[in-house]
Amino acid sequence: MNVQWNTIDPHGGKLIQRELTEKARKQYLDMCESLFSLTISKWIASDLEMISNGGFSPLIGFMGKADYESVINDMHLANGLPWTIPITLPVTKEEAGQMKIGDEVALYTDEGELAGIILVEEKFEYDKHQEAKLVYKTVDHNHPGVKKLFGQGDIYVAGPIHHINKASHKPFEKFHLNPAQTRKMFAELGWKTVVGFQTRNPVHRAHEYLQKNALETVDGLLLHPLVGETKEDDIPANIRMESYQALLKNYYPTDRVLLAIYPAAMRYAGPREAVFHAIVRKNYGCTHFIVGRDHAGVGDYYGTYEAQEIFSQFDPVKIGIKPLFFEHSFYCKKCLNMASLKTCPHTEEDRFILSGTKVREMLRKGLIPPLEFTRPEVAEVLIRGMKLNDKGK
Ligand code: ADP
Repeated sequence: MNVQWNTIDPHGGKLIQRELTEKARKQYLDMCESLFSLTISKWIASDLEMISNGGFSPLIGFMGKADYESVINDMHLANGLPWTIPITLPVTKEEAGQMKIGDEVALYTDEGELAGIILVEEKFEYDKHQEAKLVYKTVDHNHPGVKKLFGQGDIYVAGPIHHINKASHKPFEKFHLNPAQTRKMFAELGWKTVVGFQTRNPVHRAHEYLQKNALETVDGLLLHPLVGETKEDDIPANIRMESYQALLKNYYPTDRVLLAIYPAAMRYAGPREAVFHAIVRKNYGCTHFIVGRDHAGVGDYYGTYEAQEIFSQFDPVKIGIKPLFFEHSFYCKKCLNMASLKTCPHTEEDRFILSGTKVREMLRKGLIPPLEFTRPEVAEVLIRGMKLNDKGK
């Protein structure tokens, strides 16, 4: 029997692919030496990869002025599709002066690797204050996204890109799947409904609770940890990846979970980034996306449920992926169970809540946090990883 799987359309209807064929790649490699070369940051290199692999479909390059202004002001691309985060290529005035409209520019990573090429269609000035206020809802330089924005070049260069040399994701190569690959795998696994889970943290009991609740109603889970740039005090991706594997092996039905890396950088843009994260996971083939409390938040810049409320400002058909909202979850000593504000009738004193700082402190001292907070197998990996990491510093 020929089975027709329900697949979800990529954002804008078509999965973008900007990797060159081998022949075109060779031609570009020869040509690149004669082009103006621009060194891009790790953040930009990861955006280049995400555009190229289709994760940021329908974008085919870094945004021009019309899309940029429409995104920061109206949270939609100029063509009316929802899009909440500007994807831009900042350069200094001196660099911009050396590029002409119509030029192709070679993009090199900060390690000197040729990453890709951009056809310069536009160069424009932008207002950092305005972008910070609209995207991050603050101009406070203590916000990691705002700090980054104010530290970057003053001109945006825009135009379509091509990826020339694929980014290496050692030691996670095995988990490096592009959207076309995850879509194919979901079809092969027979998953008609798939819930995506974004995280930049180890998976603790609350995360596990949300994921397993979702798994009660959908066919599969894409555990999709962000491994691009994060802020200094976040747990490094290599340690987290090991901890996810320990968790899945011991506590998850592995035939219903796919662990893959999400190579993009973390913006910490709270509500806007929640919508962005959902749209990108749609491109990876997810039909549902988990949004809990303070999704993609940092400090106290955003309200606890702002990342959920923002979805009501969009046409759900245009968003195209179903957000699954979860209340703040915790272990309740009276329920003797994981629960949330929606399901637990007890008081705050009955809840087992540990701050991230407290947990990091415990792990650094080699102490396993209580079972109510984390699985011991996860804690062991984190303790070992943090010791090695501290030694390496
Ligand atoms: P991020 O900062 O990218 O949101 P986290 O790892 O902090 O990454 O969170 C991953 C997801 O889990 C987010 O949707 C977040 O809202 C949700 N989440 C984390 N902790 C809780 C919790 N205790 N209760 C409900 N949702 C949570």
